[in-house]
Amino acid sequence: MDLLEYQGKQLFARHGLRVSPGRAVTTVEDAVAAAEEVGFPVVIKAQVLIGGRGKAGGVKLAADADEAREHARNILGMDIRGHIVRKLWVEHASDIAAEYYAAVLLDRSAKKPLVMFSVEGGVDIEEVAERTPEKLIRRHVDPLQGLTREQAVEIATAGAADADVVEGVADALLALYEVWLEEDATLAEINPLIVTPEREVKALDAKVSLDGNALYRHPDSDTLSDSENEDPIERRAKEQGLQYVKLDGDIGILGNGAGLVMSTLDVVAGAGGRPANFLDAGGGSDAEKVKQAVELILENDAIKAVLFNIFGGITRCDEVARGLIAAFADIGESGRSIPFVVRLDGTNDLEGRRLLADAHLPNVYTAKTMNEAAEKVVALAAGVGAAA
Ligand code: GDP
Ligand code: MN
Repeated sequence: MDLLEYQGKQLFARHGLRVSPGRAVTTVEDAVAAAEEVGFPVVIKAQVLIGGRGKAGGVKLAADADEAREHARNILGMDIRGHIVRKLWVEHASDIAAEYYAAVLLDRSAKKPLVMFSVEGGVDIEEVAERTPEKLIRRHVDPLQGLTREQAVEIATAGAADADVVEGVADALLALYEVWLEEDATLAEINPLIVTPEREVKALDAKVSLDGNALYRHPDSDTLSDSENEDPIERRAKEQGLQYVKLDGDIGILGNGAGLVMSTLDVVAGAGGRPANFLDAGGGSDAEKVKQAVELILENDAIKAVLFNIFGGITRCDEVARGLIAAFADIGESGRSIPFVVRLDGTNDLEGRRLLADAHLPNVYTAKTMNEAAEKVVALAAGVGAAA
């Protein structure tokens, strides 16, 4: 789960990293009021889950209320490489003597945390890594011992931080490591980590990704999730306890069990089709779950055909059939015109197929095997074979 800059800065502040005071706002008038509150000059920053906002015109300094109003007006609604700006962060502007870079992440191949530091911050760090790799210091941390002050000082020194701020940089690295560890982050990055003319070390930007699987340990971080930036269908699925991931194709997929859904994606792709989603209704799905799943799948406008691949174990095929029939009773005309291929196999499959046959749903086709179902759904999505 990626956090917006201001949310990352909230976590930074909690762990003692220095950040500028600011306010998150969603309107031009609130931006001006926030600017008055934090004190001019201010910097007005687009809050979107993508970097390079500065270059795109999404970060602007304002010396007074008129400038703040003008920048807020320009930035709100801006499209930054596909991300629409709906929120601004207004913070008291900092004077900058130097821009550094700092990050803590998990190096999966080394199975250790990795601390990175460079005095070449503020710019694209990949470029620094490529052109002048010696200027990007990389140090693994012993996960049991954690980052020690000694090692933090060594990193700052090796990276050639100005001598008078080595201690300040070490403090920042220690705090950043604490954020990464205690908040269960997968990435905690600061670019730029600035040195002010007063020689303070401060986070001017924040990029934090939290481990979604650890969110249950951080009930307060759960509220940080930027639901406006999340795919609305994925959000609804989460609320209903369904595992849904949107994909690029036009064939809706539903199965019970993650393994079965993944093989279904493969088989459909193998038959020349393009899956529109991953949707696992889970084990023991009842009629209500199936109905919710059908509704979710049809939310995606790109859908041309749907494949239901159910292997009955704990899940009973007759329950699945009932859910499907209930869903069809409710969905509108547009949904009813979309062909569904249903493969029911396992517990109560005969009963399930009989229920479907008796319901006389005009656009539901049954299949006995997974391959047959995949071929049929691919043909139907392409607009052929509707008379099956
Ligand atoms: P990014 O472009 O998405 O990485 O956004 P940043 O938050 O890193 O801001 C981009 C650039 O704007 C920074 O590298 C700074 O040069 C500049 N900037 C941001 N905040 C301030 C500030 O408070 N004062 C000054 N002088 N420049 C700032
Ligand atoms: Mn940045």
